[in-house]
Amino acid sequence: MGANSGLIEPLSHLDGGLVHQAVTHHAEVRPHHPALDDGKRVLNYKQLADVMDKLARLLQDSALPRNGRVGLLLENSIEACMAMLGVLRADGCYVPLGTHFPAQRLADIVTQAGLHAVVVTDKHCSTLLQLEAMLEANPLQVVIVLNATTNDPKQAEIIHALRQRFPTVLVWEEIEHTQPPWPSRNVEEDLAYIMFTSGTTGKPKGVMITHRNINSYLLWAVKHFGFHPADRISNHSSITFDLSVMDIFGTFRAGATLCPVVSPGDRAFPGKFLKQQRITVWFSVPSVISMLRRSGQLQANAFAEHLRLALFCGEALPPDLAAAWLETHPQIPMHNLYGPTEATIACTSFWVNGDSPFNPQMAIPIGRPTQDTEILILDQEKDHPIPPGTLGRLVICGPQLSPGYWGQPELTAKVFQEHPLKPYPGARMYVTGDLAYMDEQGLIHFSGRVDDQVKLHGYRIELGEIDVALASIPELEEGVAVLMLHAPDVPELVATVVPKEEALANEQLVQQVLDHCRSQLPHYMVPGSVHLLSQLPRNPNGKVDRKKIKEIVASLQNGSMIK
Ligand code: AMP
Repeated sequence: MGANSGLIEPLSHLDGGLVHQAVTHHAEVRPHHPALDDGKRVLNYKQLADVMDKLARLLQDSALPRNGRVGLLLENSIEACMAMLGVLRADGCYVPLGTHFPAQRLADIVTQAGLHAVVVTDKHCSTLLQLEAMLEANPLQVVIVLNATTNDPKQAEIIHALRQRFPTVLVWEEIEHTQPPWPSRNVEEDLAYIMFTSGTTGKPKGVMITHRNINSYLLWAVKHFGFHPADRISNHSSITFDLSVMDIFGTFRAGATLCPVVSPGDRAFPGKFLKQQRITVWFSVPSVISMLRRSGQLQANAFAEHLRLALFCGEALPPDLAAAWLETHPQIPMHNLYGPTEATIACTSFWVNGDSPFNPQMAIPIGRPTQDTEILILDQEKDHPIPPGTLGRLVICGPQLSPGYWGQPELTAKVFQEHPLKPYPGARMYVTGDLAYMDEQGLIHFSGRVDDQVKLHGYRIELGEIDVALASIPELEEGVAVLMLHAPDVPELVATVVPKEEALANEQLVQQVLDHCRSQLPHYMVPGSVHLLSQLPRNPNGKVDRKKIKEIVASLQNGSMIK
């Protein structure tokens, strides 16, 4: 169904069932085929199905309710995939918890999501203890510790500490045998995950995603990109970011092999990983191309022997990065995908230099909608579609749309609104906050935001959330964050703050601002530099003028930048 047909149909059929059912299926038809390969360990489909079932049964026995939330305090790894599948197989919903997030933020998410259980590895048990100490009321009933054993005295000590604080602590290695899990309910409308993303109010907001949402996307993606069992698909994006859902569940849907990027070095400069793991499908944010280029890993045909597809999503694909890729890998199709977390991974895609000739002087289109998605470009004031060539508000409709934000009906109602053309009862649209226009060929072009949401290395950041963190520093009159180019190709968050008269010495104050931000915000939201100003510029209606702030910061001498 085309985007411009004006029709929306409900998702037609499941085509392979829910994602965990695909693993069960492949365990039957290709039990010895590798499902996961992290460079050190390989798990085949039979082994993956077995661990999925074991974890599902443990969760079922712990009385995990349908749609019960289970936190994953794990980084990208074989364990993270096991845990996701186990939770889904038990009719639960997984909630990724960033292992590097400050404990306070994790505690907020645990409370907001009302987590029933947490799955953790030994490495992150101390973080779990730390965040538990910050909870006012602890909803967590169960902790499942993967890859730890009480035979190791250090691990035994930490497990003992966990047992003092949580009602049930299960140590994976010590549970040799479980009964098979009870049959899954397999309800398409059930939640599969809740992903927390930056919120303007200072607290992260949880985007709910159902099995139906994922299936709608995967039905299109697996077919469109031709995923097949011989594929070796990278998992570079963090599990706290929804690009990971395409890697992980796209792989398992197709019966292919997933290769998680586990070492921080490979994550920053993945060239060696790509070659060693003989990756056939790469999917990441475009800034990875810049890292490859800077590190000298983007050589002519460096990955051509094995790679067959390069997919980029999550932020604008700059033409110079696309050019760098196309020059070095002219034979490997490159696609620019676009979509917000609220519309499940991606809802448009564009084959660069395939759907239309590449022009390095022009912004790259975000392309056409996925199979069941409808994209409308609406007038900037009124909710009616506007003709091609006119800039307007990009809204998304169709079965990839999230049911809304967890526990936040008002916020949900604000951005998930009634479809302006009302094609069927209850049809909705998601108002993205993105500006775009459609060209005469039906290709959509992204043209920025209507608000203060920015992207840094693919991370979605509401500048307002940093402002809230700055506002809670007692020594400051006020503070505002902006995103600037620190050097060509090097974006940086800058905090501009107005100290109170009796504030500390400048150096101390800057340190205080940075320490405070580190204790409140994920690492990627911590400003790279802080500027002290006597006042913040305002526009005629009294709002802080971020554009002016950027001009002021840019005009300051480099020497006055306080790091
Ligand atoms: P997230 O929810 O983190 O995926 O962020 C979604 C936002 O990222 C979108 O609303 C856009 O503003 C931006 N975005 C995602 N993909 C692209 C793309 N290919 N080109 C331009 N902006 C993008």
